[in-house]
This record gives sequence, C-alpha cells and structure tokens, in this order.
Amino acid sequence: MAQYTLGNHILDTGQPRAEVLAAILKDDSINEELFYAANKVKTEQYGNLVFVRGIIEFSNYCRCLCAYCGINARMKDAVRYRMAPDELVEAAVDTAKVYRTVILQSGEDCYYTAEMLAGIVRRIKEKAQCAVTLSIGERSLEEYRIMKQAGADRFLLKHETANAALYQSLHGVPLEGRLDAQRRIKGLGFELGGGFMVGLPGQTDEILAQDLLTLVREGVDMAGIGPFIAHPDTPLRGSADGNAHKTLKVLALARLLLPKCHLPSTTALNVKGGMKNALLCGANVIMQKATPYEYRKLYDIYPGRDAKDIPLREQYEELKEKLAELNLTAE
Ligand code: SAH
Repeated sequence: MAQYTLGNHILDTGQPRAEVLAAILKDDSINEELFYAANKVKTEQYGNLVFVRGIIEFSNYCRCLCAYCGINARMKDAVRYRMAPDELVEAAVDTAKVYRTVILQSGEDCYYTAEMLAGIVRRIKEKAQCAVTLSIGERSLEEYRIMKQAGADRFLLKHETANAALYQSLHGVPLEGRLDAQRRIKGLGFELGGGFMVGLPGQTDEILAQDLLTLVREGVDMAGIGPFIAHPDTPLRGSADGNAHKTLKVLALARLLLPKCHLPSTTALNVKGGMKNALLCGANVIMQKATPYEYRKLYDIYPGRDAKDIPLREQYEELKEKLAELNLTAE
C-alpha cells in the first residue's frame, strides 16, 4: 500500500476513499504533482516501454442501445458490415506480423456464435504468435468459456459508468448485468480490461471517484479511460464532449491506484490530442487501428476517429518516431 501526498490531499492506495479522489479531481492546483507521480509510478513499472496493440473492428452490427454510441441498434442510417471469418483471420495474422497483440472488437453481434469466434481465435493462434484480446460485449459464462478454451488471452468490457442510475439511463439495462459479465470473464482466467468514459452528461467528480474505485474492486488488469465524444446521430447529440484534461487526471489517478494495470492512451483521448500527454501521465499502452480500410469509416462509434489509410508497418514506424521524441520505446 502506498500513500501519496498531493497538495493537501492524502491518497492511500490500499483503501482509497471516494471523497479524497473527488477532491483531487476538483483541485487543479495539484495537477503537475499528480501527473509527475503517475509518470514516476508508470516508469517504475514499465520503464520507457509502450505496449502497442493492433485493433481490428470486425463488425458494426449491434443489438445494444447505448445512447452515446454511433453504431447502436437504433442507428437506422448506419451502413453495417461484417467481416467473414476467413477475412478476419487473414487480417489478424497480418496484424500480428507488426504487433504482438491483436484486439478483435465489434458491436454486440450474435451472428458470430461462440463457436465461430473460438474457431477464429484458434486459427489465428495456429498461424501467428500473438496474444488475442476480444472486445465483443456481454455473453454467457458458457460462451466466454468456449472462447477462453480456444486460446483467447484477454477480454475488454468496460463498465462505462459506475453510477447505477446513469448507467441505466444510458443503456436501458442495469449496471449489475455489466458487472456480472466482467466477473464471469475474470473468473474464467481472462485478463480483464475494464474502463469507463469521462465527461458523460450528468457525470460528477463523485461518480468518477466511484468509477476509479470500481476498477480497484473488480481487479482489472487493464482499463480504458477515455473522454465521452458526442455523436451527432445519437440521443446525446449536442452534449458537451468530455474534457481531455480531466481525463488525464482520472488516468493519472488510475495509475496511482493500480500501479501494474495496463492503461491505454485511448483512441477517444487521441482524438482530443491527448496521446502524448497520456503517455506522460500514466498510460503505457497504445492501440493502433488495423481494421481493413474499407470498414474503418463505418465503425463510427464516435466522430473524429482517425480513418487514415496507412499501411500497418508505416503506421508503426511513424508511431515509433513519435515515441522516440518522448524517450519512449515501442514494445
Ligand atoms: N461492443 C463492445 C465494444 C464497444 S466500443 C463492448 O460493448 O464492449 C468500445 C468502447 O468505445 C466502449 O466501451 C465505449 O467506452 C467507447 N465509446 C462508445 N461510444 C463512445 C462515445 N460516443 N464517446 C467516447 N467513447 C465511446
């Protein structure tokens, strides 16, 4: 257990208190200290290494009604696509030539049965040496088990917001369902990636403190923390976007609370120009888009996502140069 003194605040990491976390989030006079401490902890854990992952967004069909998301089931004008298993395996094997971890993400698309996904994972693992992360939403214990047995290593499923009323209003279903799914994933031995959005309409610093405590309580191995970005075709159109600076503070606190946790500079934060800062405020992971070009624009969960068509290897070289400027090395 560590203790950090940040201005007038004393943060105990073993049993952090929500009030202390919220007070730190409100107090901008301690930001430099906070970022410095987070960077120090990250450097102690990971040196100057940044883990780079390739993400393939393989389907934008979705059964969910998440109010913030541009591919939710009600988006009648969304052009939908699905990658065929062979196409996905091929894309993943190509991605694994550049990156050591391949993330397969989609809307909640039940066209892909657990057996299909297991087959895809198995074939990727046979042909390439890489870790496979799934990010496909909520499934039953049995379905998750089938995917785990096929060799999937990690699973990303964010809790999105830890406030039960806010969660219910955004998703139309209770938060408990999401937390139960995370527990099924963790219980099967997956590395669990959780996380949440910063700046959702109605969110307060007290709620963000609960979000951070939820990461600690659920024992996440990774956490994606990104700003909310309003999508113009969703019910949240016109809402203010999450603030990049606040997101960095939350990220830095996550690093102090969970020293070993893998914390990406999320795509949403990169959209807000925060990548460089995130890597100096506790983040140690970057996700690079590896979705085949023709599908990139269609995976329109929020606006402003980088859809540049740069070959993976070039994209990786560019990133390595950017990292070198920060004295960081891609792993
Ligand atoms: N269907 C999968 C993948 C979701 S998309 C799942 O449910 O896990 C990946 C992440 O994008 C979500 O977890 C959410 O945190 C984020 N996201 C979606 N819409 C967003 C928005 N408008 N602004 C910021 N982040 C958003």
